[in-house]
Amino acid sequence: MALRRLRPHGLFQVTRNPGRFGRRGRVCNFQRASWFICPSHRQRTKRLLQVNTSTEPRSLDCAVIGGGPAGLTAAIYLARYHLAVTVFDDGSGRAATIPITHNHAGFPGGISGSDLMLRMRTQACSYGAQIRQGRVDALTHEKGEFVVSFGAKTLEARTVLIATGVTNRAPEMPKAMHDEALRRGLLRYCPVCDGFEITDKRVAVVGQGERAFHEAVFLRSYTPHITLLCPKGVDLNSTQRNRLAQVGIRIEIGPLQFELEQEAIVVRNLTSRSRFDTVYPALGTTVRSDLAQMLGATLLAEGCVRVDDHQRTDVRGLYAAGDVVKGLDQISHAMGQAGVAATTIRNDLCDQSPLVRRS
Ligand SMILES: Cc1cc2nc3c(=O)[nH]c(=O)nc-3n(C[C@H](O)[C@H](O)[C@H](O)COP(=O)(O)OP(=O)(O)OC[C@H]3O[C@@H](n4cnc5c(N)ncnc54)[C@H](O)[C@@H]3O)c2cc1C
Repeated sequence: MALRRLRPHGLFQVTRNPGRFGRRGRVCNFQRASWFICPSHRQRTKRLLQVNTSTEPRSLDCAVIGGGPAGLTAAIYLARYHLAVTVFDDGSGRAATIPITHNHAGFPGGISGSDLMLRMRTQACSYGAQIRQGRVDALTHEKGEFVVSFGAKTLEARTVLIATGVTNRAPEMPKAMHDEALRRGLLRYCPVCDGFEITDKRVAVVGQGERAFHEAVFLRSYTPHITLLCPKGVDLNSTQRNRLAQVGIRIEIGPLQFELEQEAIVVRNLTSRSRFDTVYPALGTTVRSDLAQMLGATLLAEGCVRVDDHQRTDVRGLYAAGDVVKGLDQISHAMGQAGVAATTIRNDLCDQSPLVRRS
């Protein structure tokens, strides 16, 4: 047994015999390393993550809606600016579904989305941020304050950050099959994130029109074996069809049925049965901007919240960051926008009434 302590909050790298700790602590096996969270630290982390309503002021400096990379980064910054911040999260984000990310800087062996979120939640709470589990149903603005409604409760806040992300449209298959395929890398949603992992593999892109065309061509730089599956028939112009033919991308059509094998995902249409190492759905996303819309914020054509260079929406006191804003839908980008948003929130609050520390 050998544990090499690497980080605060009870995270150790297990250099030998990781299985031994399975029952007592939590071992996360990443590709080249195993990580162990020891039981005493687990308890401490659990306590840290518990909501402490006695320290929550009547009116928050900022309510952050969404506890993904954007919301949690903002919470870390805001708490470290000595501001009162509560994050609301309903646990349905994209980051939490990432089996393992290899392009997020600083983790040479990769890290799973859920572990990254746990680290970020722990970091935010260790500086005094609160995290409430549950869905925010409504946002209103009354007498100069925002009112956040979740379940039967409400909280007031001077500012709100919308960090609610987007949801991917999934191909038609049972949810259990979908989640299992995602976990095993048979289904992937983000060529920018994990195109590298499918290098030289057999890949299908499922979708229609321009979006699916671009995704198939993008992935062609990773592998020569790409098939574009168009469930509703081919809706590409002649230039697009020629381009696909030029780079050797096959097109198939028809209603699709999926089946999982040990190492492959099988796709049937009316005429054929093909095995792929990975399927990329290119079916678009639904932007979770309804709360911003409720307050009258302007949305762009695709549903994203419109913001200025400092992540301000056109509603005073309302900010947005992450996938819900137009941009590269990536963890690093969400985090960058959130850092900007949190600093703008701090500076805007300070302009309204100076933030001065009392002795
Ligand atoms: C399968 C997959 C793999 C990916 N791999 C990578 C990768 O390797 N590298 C990379 O950089 N990016 C990757 N991405 C993209 C990455 O997940 C997103 O860009 C990132 O999560 C965006 O962060 P976010 O905070 O804006 O949104 P999210 O992570 O989606 O978080 C939004 C949060 O808001 C919460 N929420 C929404 N509405 C409400 C509400 N009304 N009330 C309360 N809470 C609410 C959700 O529960 C969620 O926790 C991947 C995406 C997918 C789907």
